[in-house]
Amino acid sequence: MAEGLEFALRYPFCESAKSALAGMDLSERIVDLAVERLLKALKGDKSAKMLLHDSDRKEEIASFAAARMILGHLRNSYLTNAFAVNESKRVRDCLDKDDERTVDAVAAQFGIATANEGRKLTVALPTYLRYSTRNPHYRLINRRLVRGRVEINYEEKKRLIEEAVKKHMESVPLVKDPPDMIKAAGARLVAELPKTESRVLGTVKAGDHPPCVMRLLDEMNKHTNLPHQARLYLATYFLAIGTSEDEINRMFSMLPDYSEKITRYQVGHIRKKGYNVASCATVMTYGLCCAVCRIGSPLNWHSLDDSRKNAIRERGAGGGGAP
Ligand code: SF4
Repeated sequence: MAEGLEFALRYPFCESAKSALAGMDLSERIVDLAVERLLKALKGDKSAKMLLHDSDRKEEIASFAAARMILGHLRNSYLTNAFAVNESKRVRDCLDKDDERTVDAVAAQFGIATANEGRKLTVALPTYLRYSTRNPHYRLINRRLVRGRVEINYEEKKRLIEEAVKKHMESVPLVKDPPDMIKAAGARLVAELPKTESRVLGTVKAGDHPPCVMRLLDEMNKHTNLPHQARLYLATYFLAIGTSEDEINRMFSMLPDYSEKITRYQVGHIRKKGYNVASCATVMTYGLCCAVCRIGSPLNWHSLDDSRKNAIRERGAGGGGAP
């Protein structure tokens, strides 16, 4: 496949895409296509469109850049992560269909240069370390090193490219003051993000949990990643009030960097070790306290009567409280 419009369409992050778009301005149509592209990413849909005209192809290429602008403006890690995963898988499908010359052209964008060593390929060690996945198959202990280079096969070379694309998509530059149409597109997308209610907050009413917990659940509802201490706190709290490990896993699945395997292991580990729920004083040191409940432990929330809970909530969850 020649490095023309078709190449730029399949690999819109490549330099040739920039030249294909020279002189093109952002338009409502391109932004709509970008929103469509991002919504497809949320559904895991990596299908390609049939585009007959060069003008349609150029708009589709531009939609990639517009999607990145929207992500750079929103800074929503769930959406960025979904986009990175979907685009890297889409690229992998294209690489599987394309010839070696095209694969090499894409690899070159990320500095992935392979050399032929007999019937095998080798890649420089730093490049390998940068783009190989965490899969044990890719551990260096399971690899043959040839004069400081790592032996790989052609399939593994495409896997390195897929990972490089994902990493590239994950690092979206901040877009501080985008055009209004990008801001409006961002607002439309946020409204489309799946809501936690269907999974964990569906049965949660205001006042069911202390303000600090409700605030963290709200963060999850917005698919914002939580720091380690917040996850540990939530896991110990929900285990302590009798929530099942499955339900806690479902709750954490709203986080953009969710990994079922890691979460199941960690929640199971916390339960087995019997970690205590942090006191309010400790929660405050984590920077997670947001009200003045004066109850000593977040678990004591459940022994308060409704009028006391309402009074605390009405005082507001504005700033860090006191135990
Ligand atoms: S005082 Fe305790 S229960 Fe209330 S918000 Fe702070 S940490 Fe949570």
